[in-house]
Amino acid sequence: MSKMLVATLREVPAEAEIKSHQLMLRAGLMRKNAAGIYSWLPLGLRSLRKVEQIIRDAMDSHGALEVLMPALLPAETYQASGRWEVFGPDMFRLKDRGERDFCLGPTHEEVFTELVKNEVKSYKALPMTIYQIQSKYRDERRPRFGVMRSREFIMKDAYSFDKDEAGLDKSYQNMYAAYCQAFDTMKLDYIVVDADSGAMGGSGSQEFMVKSEVGEDTIAFCDACGYAANSEKAPCIPTKVDCPAGDLPLEKIHTPNVKTIEELQQYMNCGAELFVKTIVYTADEKPVAVMVRGDREVNEVKLKNYLNCQELALAEPAIVQEVTHAAVGFAGPIGISCDLLMDSEVEQMQNFVVGANETDYHYKNVQLNRDFTPTAVLDLRTIVTGDACPHCGKPIGTAQGVEVGHIFKLGTKYSKALNAAVLDENGKSNVVVMGCYGIGVSRCLAAVIEQYSDEKGIVWPVSVAPYHVVVVPANNKDEVQMQLAEQMYEQLLAQGIEAVLDDRAERAGVKFKDAELMGFPVRITAGRSSGDGIVEYVERTADEKLELSPEEAVKKAVDYIKGQLG
Ligand code: ATP
Ligand code: MG
Repeated sequence: MSKMLVATLREVPAEAEIKSHQLMLRAGLMRKNAAGIYSWLPLGLRSLRKVEQIIRDAMDSHGALEVLMPALLPAETYQASGRWEVFGPDMFRLKDRGERDFCLGPTHEEVFTELVKNEVKSYKALPMTIYQIQSKYRDERRPRFGVMRSREFIMKDAYSFDKDEAGLDKSYQNMYAAYCQAFDTMKLDYIVVDADSGAMGGSGSQEFMVKSEVGEDTIAFCDACGYAANSEKAPCIPTKVDCPAGDLPLEKIHTPNVKTIEELQQYMNCGAELFVKTIVYTADEKPVAVMVRGDREVNEVKLKNYLNCQELALAEPAIVQEVTHAAVGFAGPIGISCDLLMDSEVEQMQNFVVGANETDYHYKNVQLNRDFTPTAVLDLRTIVTGDACPHCGKPIGTAQGVEVGHIFKLGTKYSKALNAAVLDENGKSNVVVMGCYGIGVSRCLAAVIEQYSDEKGIVWPVSVAPYHVVVVPANNKDEVQMQLAEQMYEQLLAQGIEAVLDDRAERAGVKFKDAELMGFPVRITAGRSSGDGIVEYVERTADEKLELSPEEAVKKAVDYIKGQLG
């Protein structure tokens, strides 16, 4: 370690909000160059390479072929599929000296499709799954949490090519199995959830999620039947609330300055579930209003899929005023001048309260079809804890999750756009059927640390630890200690253990603190009892310190490490 770049920090860096980000900086695994852009230091790179290798082994053992594509790509590659436009500001773009457009690849569907189009002529070469492990570039709106969401990150991206849907199903299941193998080996505690496949193409998709409060996705899961889905995707079953009974007459009420649901609740002295809120969006610049119960949230993914639009955003105040003829805060379904979509749950309500499309007014006792008629009624809300499970009806739970992997049945979206076809048994040309499969390699490493740490530092699972064992001479100046430490270190190396010797001229306390922070699975210390043939053995996961002979300590470490590696 005297020759290593040890870059541990005692203080928690102010820029790091979450555990894994703090620990990756403090343990000296990486350093920041710019927002969402990091350098990997020697210790971090060793672990990163292990994660990569675990993924590579899983892919290779499931028959996938590794390639390496360029990250620097010409615009034409993405123009044929339309994604040169679709990626918008997320794509890093640049020009060469001849003013030709290039980008740094955010994902590589087009590049792989082109390869297969050019190199594979017959169905006989299929099925084929090709992958790479490579840096990806996305100018994320909110890079944060270190390498959890960065602008340059390492991804394993794989693409499967089949002659038909049945083949795709098999390739997809094969990748599912490969992913389970990889995440199991990393010791990640994950769940697989149904995911949104987007409006365009795609017949199925699942995400591998690591439950964590720092996750930016919400997972809906059912303990009763095992159902699990991204909340973007989970269908909602409408529930009924106790609305006032009878066919009450529509009433306009004066509600000066009552603009939010909270203010309305106070003013009317009743719960938000008796109101219906109307939210105006613009979908590719066209305004559209969406109604959901007052205590619900609009699910923008469901909305976007239904509208089949590129850009969806909350409408600017000017647009809201134009379609409601009122100040912002008083939108409602009666007399609104744009399409009106209604969440199915509102069908279960009567005599409810809405904005009146008139500044400082609301309507009460509103009835669907008597007072207004929506353009369409569909599931447009986001599932919440306690909602009925869409499979079995029991109450749903929710948790935050980090998406570490995504598998996706693409179908023929890219093969059609780029005309990637092969000849079938009868000599007829057919477009290939594709799947795509991503793993966030650098995000996985952060997720492992998020799951495996304590107040002292990282607690690496052996499979991704940068080194397995650290051997510490407590006092470098003591020749007996130093000699014994060196001897154990050599013995560990000889048995294939990745060992490191902390021969730095530091106090024992500093070495122990660093060892804990860096999270080595085993520490063996040659201290004061070295002369009596006794050393100290401690596993990072256990507090117990054992006094053993050097031979016993080395053997115990070897057995433990080899046992953990399986
Ligand atoms: P997210 O919803 O988190 O932005 P995504 O749906 O954009 O992810 P994909 O395009 O499916 O992600 O990319 C495949 C994998 O790459 C993801 O499952 C994730 O693990 C990882 N990934 C995506 N964006 C980033 C990023 N900005 N930083 C680190 N890893 C990322
Ligand atoms: Mg993304």
